Amino acid sequence: MDGTAWPSTYEAEYAASLEDPQGYWMAQSRVLDWVRPPQAGFVLRPDGQAGWFPGGMLNLCANALDRHVAAGRGEQAALIWESPACGASDMFTYAALLARVAGFAGGLRAAGVEPGDRVVICLPPIPECFVAMLACARLGAVHVVVFAGFAPAELARRIEDVDPKLVITASATYRAGRATPLLPGVREATQRKLVVVQRPGAPALLGPAESDFATLEYAEPIVPVPMPATAPLYILHTSGTTGRPKGVVRDTGGHGVVLAQSMRTVYGLGAGEVFFTTADPGWVVGHSYGLYAPLLAGCATVLAEGAVGRAVWDICARHRVAVLFTSPSVLRALRLAKAAPPPLPPLRRIFLAGERADAGDSAWAAHATGVKVLDHWWQTETGSAMAGSFAGLGDYAAPGSSLRPAPGYELCALDVQGQELPPGHAGEIAVRLPLPPGCLTGMWGATPTCFSYSGYYRSFDYGVIAPDGGVSILSRTDDVLNIAGRRLGAGEIEAAIADHPGVMACAVIAAPHRLRGEEPVGFVVPHPEAGAKLQPEIIALVRERLGAFVGLRRIVLVEELPRTKSGKIIRQALSVQVVFD
Ligand code: AMP
Repeated sequence: MDGTAWPSTYEAEYAASLEDPQGYWMAQSRVLDWVRPPQAGFVLRPDGQAGWFPGGMLNLCANALDRHVAAGRGEQAALIWESPACGASDMFTYAALLARVAGFAGGLRAAGVEPGDRVVICLPPIPECFVAMLACARLGAVHVVVFAGFAPAELARRIEDVDPKLVITASATYRAGRATPLLPGVREATQRKLVVVQRPGAPALLGPAESDFATLEYAEPIVPVPMPATAPLYILHTSGTTGRPKGVVRDTGGHGVVLAQSMRTVYGLGAGEVFFTTADPGWVVGHSYGLYAPLLAGCATVLAEGAVGRAVWDICARHRVAVLFTSPSVLRALRLAKAAPPPLPPLRRIFLAGERADAGDSAWAAHATGVKVLDHWWQTETGSAMAGSFAGLGDYAAPGSSLRPAPGYELCALDVQGQELPPGHAGEIAVRLPLPPGCLTGMWGATPTCFSYSGYYRSFDYGVIAPDGGVSILSRTDDVLNIAGRRLGAGEIEAAIADHPGVMACAVIAAPHRLRGEEPVGFVVPHPEAGAKLQPEIIALVRERLGAFVGLRRIVLVEELPRTKSGKIIRQALSVQVVFD
């Protein structure tokens, strides 16, 4: 069977993925070009995890670029860049993008980067970010993209975690037409070799250990390096409960296969169509559906710098976008701004993920655009949807109704003892092992079994599975906040607050926020000698340590924090004290 010509319904495809996972995933793998085809879909490891596509060798950059050029798509648009932030735009054909990527990969190699080396990329959403990611994939180096909105200390933690050969950054970021220097913060975060994109209108004077991105691009282009399917393609840090960012490791073959499969099944998109995801490349959606999946499928991808408000609709109209992938926060902002779209004839679907979708916002967008607004549920760890609505398989879950598990995902709800609950009972949603391809293969620097739990992968999301198999996600079960679709551990914010000398003890909880879904609220027991400006100082400290995107605005001073006998803070008791906006 060929994965491209799978004549299927959702039910048939889902059943095939569970009844014959080897056959199903081998068939899906054939949509990619392999230097050496895999011997099997997967091998089971003793811990219940699968190693995907053993024996297979491929290069994901070659699959994203070279093979489309070889197939005659060289002059088709591959990357469209729009920057409402600095008033610029650009377009790269597959041939042009390939030339830039092959050159920059040559430049990286000349700078000493070898297959398996890590390269940190801390760039705003500009074409060079995708060029750098694809160049790493071409070379077999492991990219580690860090959101450019993080403060230097957070960038430093991620850099130290992965020990990169070099760090790629830019002279500045743009917001609302104004340039903010980025390089000084990166220099503060690390002493490592830097490669710097000079932003128009905001160049930086480079030091001796710093090279210009454009100079590296003029190196001798290189051909793609064949990599084992199991080789890491990238590391992406996300938040957990420990107060330390965890580096999710993604493999090459499994990830490529599931992304190509999802373009057909989830999004129903084919070569030549335009896919626009509003997510920053620093988050998982930007990796999977900003960059790799659209290019693997031969689509054009739209990358926007600072696309907020009406710009989303303008971009959809101008570039004839067929599928828009955005977050509920973006829809909410558009709805509140009463930003009605112009006619968008080629638009077929809007997909939402990252946080709980509000039925009113989805209905507003569906009415305003005349297209279906579909929810899907996923995490950094999985890299693609665990459950959703399958536009390519004729299955559409109405907004607010439950989602269908994605092929390969056997979902169940667990009680607090880790026992499976019967359908209709709310519990922690878990995935029976083995996880399907494309999910994390481990955490950087940790044991591979750290994320599994007696035969299950734990999502830490609380929800219900209906008797018909439909899934509804309700909330998190751990202390992780979801701020405008971005995960942030309460512990990370608490660690920053606790560094203020005027703080004796602190706890952070989530409060609902009209626009961003959730916002952090800090509870602080002040030191008797703390100054009168403690609250604004803490807010400024968190901004400096973690970045402005955290949006901490409220610190409540308390005499003590409610604790269990063993000293653990009782967060539920804190939440009732918050007066919501
Ligand atoms: P991240 O790893 O940053 O993408 O965040 C993943 C988390 O976002 C999940 O564990 C959920 O808590 C939340 N999330 C993602 N998609 C949805 C969705 N469709 N509905 C509700 N929550 C979601």
